Amino acid sequence: MPSMPAAAVAPGTTIGSVMRDAPLPQQEARILLGHVAQISRVQLITQSERALSAAEAQQLASLFARRLAGEPIAYLVGEREFFGLAFEVNPAVLIPRPDTELLVELALQHLPPQGRVLDMGTGSGAIAIALAHTRPDARVTALDASAAALAVAQANASKHQAGIEFLHSDWFAALGDRQFDLIVSNPPYIVAGDRHLSEGDLRFEPIDALTDHADGLSDLRTISSHAARHLADDGWLLMEHGYDQAAAARALLLADHFREVQSWRDLANIARVSGGKKSRA
Ligand code: GLN
Repeated sequence: MPSMPAAAVAPGTTIGSVMRDAPLPQQEARILLGHVAQISRVQLITQSERALSAAEAQQLASLFARRLAGEPIAYLVGEREFFGLAFEVNPAVLIPRPDTELLVELALQHLPPQGRVLDMGTGSGAIAIALAHTRPDARVTALDASAAALAVAQANASKHQAGIEFLHSDWFAALGDRQFDLIVSNPPYIVAGDRHLSEGDLRFEPIDALTDHADGLSDLRTISSHAARHLADDGWLLMEHGYDQAAAARALLLADHFREVQSWRDLANIARVSGGKKSRA
């Protein structure tokens, strides 16, 4: 950690000089400055001579200090982009990851016209809302065990005018005998005690959204073992998982009698999503 009072920003300091002296990577300083001054990236350049007010300087100094202490940029500005849409986020929800766009793309490919899709563990609602936004014909249901997460998801759905049915449910608990044409999930899959949980952004994210506090596979196992009951004939289950869990995820799906079981690679060429089709009775 820097020992100087790196986060101090004097009132009257210009936007240009804040950018030159920021104690953070330029990209991060730009996002925080744009957020505080309520201006775009282009305006940060065209208004470089503009002086910050005392309130702006104080707010910026506080955000710089919090960022230096490790808080994720997305929580500091309350927003993260996913699938081309801006999502409100707070520490009640995982910050949407670019890796998860693969799950959305696969879901779009496996969702029949007017199909019913269920997103399990929706968090910020990113997956469900990206689907509803891209496919207005889809009937989208999203659930989460966290009421605080559902409040964020609901706010995001309103913001994007996505008609989504939200359920407060611990996995399948509140579903009764409802069926869907597609079930998707990005469940907690990090192994208990994995060092990544105590590094970087993850330290600030909801622990129950990251890890199952066990072998990393227990929620994937729960979802795989009960999904068929809630899928229509030929319905698909698609689950995101960790970089080293593809073979284990396929083994679970095969043991649960799914067909066409396979894994798909993300942009980093990591097998990131596995899925299968429900067997006909
Ligand atoms: N992909 C996230 C990470 O490794 C974890 C998300 C999850 O557990 N579902 O940071």
